[in-house]
Amino acid sequence: MVTQKFVDSATELDGMLQRMHDLVIQHVREGQDAEHAVVNYLPPEELYKVVDFALPDQGAGVEGTFELIKSTLDNSVNSWNPRFMDKLYAGTNPIGVISEFLLGVLNGNCHVYHVSPVLSLMEIEVTKAVGKLLGMGDASGGLFCPGGSASNLLAMVTARNKLYPSIKTKGYIPRPFNPEAEYGKLKVFTSAHCHYSIDKAALVLGLGTDSIVKVPTDERSRMRVDVLERLINESIARGETPFFINATAGTTVMGGFDPIRSISSIAKKYNCWLHVDGSWGGSAIFSQNVRENLGWLDGAGLADTFTLNPHKLLGVPLQCSMLVTPHQGHLLFANANNLQADYLFHGNPYDLGAGTIGCGRRPDALKIFLAWKFYGKDGLGARIDRAIKAAADFTDIVRERPGFELVADPSAFCQVCFWYVPPSLKDEAAEWKKDPEVFKVKMTRVVHLLHERVNHGGDFLVDHAPLDNLAHFFRIVINAPTVNVHRDLAKLLDTIEDAGREIDWKNAF
Ligand SMILES: *Cc1c(COP(=O)(O)O)cnc(C)c1O
Repeated sequence: MVTQKFVDSATELDGMLQRMHDLVIQHVREGQDAEHAVVNYLPPEELYKVVDFALPDQGAGVEGTFELIKSTLDNSVNSWNPRFMDKLYAGTNPIGVISEFLLGVLNGNCHVYHVSPVLSLMEIEVTKAVGKLLGMGDASGGLFCPGGSASNLLAMVTARNKLYPSIKTKGYIPRPFNPEAEYGKLKVFTSAHCHYSIDKAALVLGLGTDSIVKVPTDERSRMRVDVLERLINESIARGETPFFINATAGTTVMGGFDPIRSISSIAKKYNCWLHVDGSWGGSAIFSQNVRENLGWLDGAGLADTFTLNPHKLLGVPLQCSMLVTPHQGHLLFANANNLQADYLFHGNPYDLGAGTIGCGRRPDALKIFLAWKFYGKDGLGARIDRAIKAAADFTDIVRERPGFELVADPSAFCQVCFWYVPPSLKDEAAEWKKDPEVFKVKMTRVVHLLHERVNHGGDFLVDHAPLDNLAHFFRIVINAPTVNVHRDLAKLLDTIEDAGREIDWKNAF
């Protein structure tokens, strides 16, 4: 047992920080070492034996707790490693760690201004600056939410409350059940490649997932706008009320960008709220090349709300997600969602919590504010340009390698998606191809087995994904600014080939 003698917090923290310093720097160094694994993968039953998960009655003090901190570092995924390509986020960077540290020290709460004055103004200023970058003008701004799904949910509830305010008090009772209602069954339109959080939002709002209409996509994973308009008209003819169109800027699997400007014309024509889910690709607005040449986010300023996650593409620590609007910034959300909680909100328009679904709020804005200050808009843009270039270079390498086949060529954004047929399965694969259903089942099995072997090896973490009616495929996300095309990406293909040689395919199906 450790007896706690009184030490003042500053002295206690000083001692812990010195210990922490060495552990953390070593962890980051290992993440940058080309020879070091991304993770020492252990299944849960093994991990229970290695890490002490017991929660004690008596405190373990500095020694015991630091032992646990060390084993947490040793057994976690090292996201500083550029071969961590599994998800849409990568490791953070030094200023990212410092920003989290500052938040920890402040332990602030961004619901009311007078408990977090600096942090509240940072939130107002950074959402306004992003709104201006998106082309939303001087009256833009917004709020931070605990993730892109939460931002999308806040967008949908705000749209519903603004367009049909009676639902705020009376609940959702559409025509024909309520002949007096000014709306029929509310409908949401989004592409077939959208993120599931759009469905989740409809579920939470009580609209039901049947209220979502999935619009088909083209060969670049973009929503087919001609079909969108037809589906809206069919919905109206059924007596329903289309109210919300979601355009995705950077789809989760393929990285497609829906054509926001033409979707916006349709939204205006049919009195729908236009939301853009830019959780993944929205941050590309920091790149001058994207703004001025590629045009992927053209029309973003016409959106009523726009979700953008700096914690993905910009390397800001999780979570960091904002919802931006041209309609009076955060006041739109307060206006649409405020309740009379007078014990907390005393009428100060700088009280940001009034617009959200939660109460207390983590001041995540500080993290992108500091990243922007440190790197500048151009530095953040350069990170994106580099990722786009590396994804294009890697796409070229995959195209050239025998046995590999790209799902989309060229890759739409920073994801590179492909299948791999090991040489020993070449003849069988040619047979499978004769029947698309057979090919789908067999190739999915091939990809799952290869993927499991690659990830358990620990040198890489990558993901696989389904899409439409295709066989599952590898999805490699190029995001880390330290990724090296030849050392890291080409070597991944070697590792997949090795796995293809090691698996006993005779007994695999
Ligand atoms: C990642 C992602 C989300 C969800 O963001 P979270 O922060 O993980 O909740 C939503 N939409 C798209 C397109 C995404 O890629």
